[in-house]
Amino acid sequence: MNPEVAVVLGERIARYGFPDGHPFGPDRHGAFAREFEARGLDRRVQLLEPKPATYDELLAFHTPAYVDFVRERSRSGYGFLDSGDTPAFRGVYEAAAAVVGASLQAAEAIMGGRCKRAFVPIAGLHHAARDRAAGFCVFNDCGVVIELLFRRHGLERVAYVDIDAHHGDGVFYAFEEDPRVIFADVHEDGRYLYPGTGAADETGRGKAEGTKLNLPMPPGADDTAFAAAWPRVIEHLERHEPQFILFQCGADSIEDDPITHLRFSPQAHGRAARELTQLAKRLGHGRVLALGGGGYNRANLARAWTAVVEGLLIE
Ligand SMILES: [Zn+2]
Repeated sequence: MNPEVAVVLGERIARYGFPDGHPFGPDRHGAFAREFEARGLDRRVQLLEPKPATYDELLAFHTPAYVDFVRERSRSGYGFLDSGDTPAFRGVYEAAAAVVGASLQAAEAIMGGRCKRAFVPIAGLHHAARDRAAGFCVFNDCGVVIELLFRRHGLERVAYVDIDAHHGDGVFYAFEEDPRVIFADVHEDGRYLYPGTGAADETGRGKAEGTKLNLPMPPGADDTAFAAAWPRVIEHLERHEPQFILFQCGADSIEDDPITHLRFSPQAHGRAARELTQLAKRLGHGRVLALGGGGYNRANLARAWTAVVEGLLIE
């Protein structure tokens, strides 16, 4: 076992998924867990059980009115949490709070020195804004982790890297004017895919100008296109020397995802995890927290996320 790497798995985060054939169903956790065990990775990492985030932890990123709204819809289980992509279900508050708790727990394990790198499969819910749900994302665990790394641990620069097919708009706009968030996002061009944002000229505002890198890719972009873009992400991070690296490794950027049009292979995800691990080591702290993100083809998410765990395991 490599005690430097932890993976958070468990029933509490498995419940985060929408019913009735929704692409983000509750079966995604099992699809990953089966491949993870088949490859013997469960014997190579520390396993952590997810604990739910507290109400106050959710407020580190979200508005009280929004958190209360989710709690209320979670009791009735009716309606939508946004304009039609993200349905309410009974217990959605608890499931979404467990996702945030899992990501926080992994971040705290890293900051507390109990591991260096970690992966949480059902996490990386990058579309949720401070005051609303969006695109299958109820609470933005990435945003809560970033806020708490600043407030609890006094970090000055945190990197957020995203290779999900969709632009990480919930993280981008929440921190667009915050120079402490070093942002890099490779995604399908917003002219062809939800949420429509993340143009190359969106580089941060005010004091944060130049801390954000958006790399939109045309529909059909493959590993060759990824290989051409990826070194810019590494250079961007190297220039800003983040003290912690968050990595949203959405598997919907892989060929044959049912709702997107990129054609990366799982090797792209493995390479990204490996190079971020190497970069974190060069920066002297070794801290990488990978979050599963999207991915609606189950075989793809199983292969991409296990490749990420393998990437985190390099010596
Ligand atoms: Zn996505």
